[in-house]
Amino acid sequence: MKTYQNYIAGVWQSSSSGQTCESIHPATGHLVARTQFSTEDDVERAVTAARSAFEATDWAMNSSMRSRALAAWAEAMERNQEALARLLSEENGKPIREARSEVASAIDALRYNSVMARNVFGRTFQPSRDAYGFLVREAVGVVAVITPWNWPVLLLMRDLAPCLAAGNAAIVKPAERTGAITAALFELAADLHMFPPGILQLVTGKGNVVGDALVEHPGVDMVAFTGSTEVGQGIMAKASRGVKKVALELGGKSPNLVFADADIERAVSTACRSVFMTSGQICMAGSRLLVEAPVYEQALALAKSYAESLRVGMPLEESTDMGPVISETQLHTILAFIEEGRRRGRVIAGGKRLSQPPFDRGHFVEPTVIADLPVDCSVVQEEIFGPVLVVERFESEEEAVRLANATRYGLVAGIWTKDLDRAFRVARRLRAGTVWLNGYNRNYAEAESGGYKMSGLGRSRGIEGLYEFTELKHIHLTLDV
Ligand code: NAD
Repeated sequence: MKTYQNYIAGVWQSSSSGQTCESIHPATGHLVARTQFSTEDDVERAVTAARSAFEATDWAMNSSMRSRALAAWAEAMERNQEALARLLSEENGKPIREARSEVASAIDALRYNSVMARNVFGRTFQPSRDAYGFLVREAVGVVAVITPWNWPVLLLMRDLAPCLAAGNAAIVKPAERTGAITAALFELAADLHMFPPGILQLVTGKGNVVGDALVEHPGVDMVAFTGSTEVGQGIMAKASRGVKKVALELGGKSPNLVFADADIERAVSTACRSVFMTSGQICMAGSRLLVEAPVYEQALALAKSYAESLRVGMPLEESTDMGPVISETQLHTILAFIEEGRRRGRVIAGGKRLSQPPFDRGHFVEPTVIADLPVDCSVVQEEIFGPVLVVERFESEEEAVRLANATRYGLVAGIWTKDLDRAFRVARRLRAGTVWLNGYNRNYAEAESGGYKMSGLGRSRGIEGLYEFTELKHIHLTLDV
């Protein structure tokens, strides 16, 4: 059992607290690894090292160096893909097949940004005979990258890769529960000796200690945060005191709209897959299934049979479709939502904790489908972050749009219909950062994603995702002509 250290100024080191955090296996309760329980002093050292690396090294000005370092990190991850996937699965509880695909997506994000590091161009203009303007993109400076536990490898790279590609110095603060997999990724990077000391740093620990200290530190120029809407709001408020840039990727409660002319089986199975993946602990979970009245009962039957066919099991078993949820607290939150669903609607599949062996030492809940809830019910409105699908009925296109937009979130949505005119008409009326037509959860390193409303601020992925980590400077030249 390994104890991971912080990575500060190019050196692996213990926290000044002398204490550690524990990563507990969500399926078995055993100790997976320890990471540092860091302090404000550790943050202070990391910020000092980051500032000096950003100002004194060639990193921000040498795109070829950055491109090579990111590509080499991707290769190192690829060589260690299976070990990384196993550690991810053990620490987070996600099925091994899913862990492999998450690691592969993170490698892809690194590769994409290694290429984009050499494709950041500015603009020029000539407003008069004697003047030229140059608009150049520069790195912001020192960036705190704060990540969640649910997809800790991909979501780290989704922000960190463009942050580094743009020439910034990054200080990463992972979620307490997934510090070990993050540190394992840093070990691969450190062994390459291609990142100048201080450019890439890791400080693990509590959000309200390490996270707060980073957000409030005057030496941090920007905060890139992925996590809950509530914590994101607090970060935005604190960052405003220093007028810092923030990029926020927050929660979601995303709908799939299924019209009667759609391929109902494909629509329902795709929606179910998206909400039962990672036991529903996924920001883009299609947790609301809105179905047109004539095919509502058919969709309910399909969702019920999909949920009941899933194999819940131990994360490292190849046959497992769904593992545990992350913690006992999270399990109780999910069960409370299910009880509310039972009170105000109809639980048509699942709905119970699994507590017989081999599930008795972990946090397992059945894949659950709930129907007939009023739209104002908390089960429809709130992000449950568990394997709970809500099925709702609509009578018209107008009602479908109104219901889909009726939560505070606006991350993603799916529309299922054979009528392309309607698909585009409805897509433009949905308040969401991504809308998939006849598909769901199709994300690409080159396609921007992000939230409307309380699902976030700014865009990740793609060239706009990289630009989030830059400032735009106007340099003006006056000629004597
Ligand atoms: P969380 O908000 O509890 O924690 C996220 C990170 O913030 C962790 O590293 C945590 O330690 C840190 N943190 C906590 N308090 C802090 C503070 N006061 N200051 C600074 N940092 C602090 O979220 P979580 O439980 O880890 O993840 C689940 C949430 O993340 C869900 O709401 C989910 O929708 C969201 N999420 C969003 C996206 C997206 O792309 N929009 C992706 C994944 C997860």
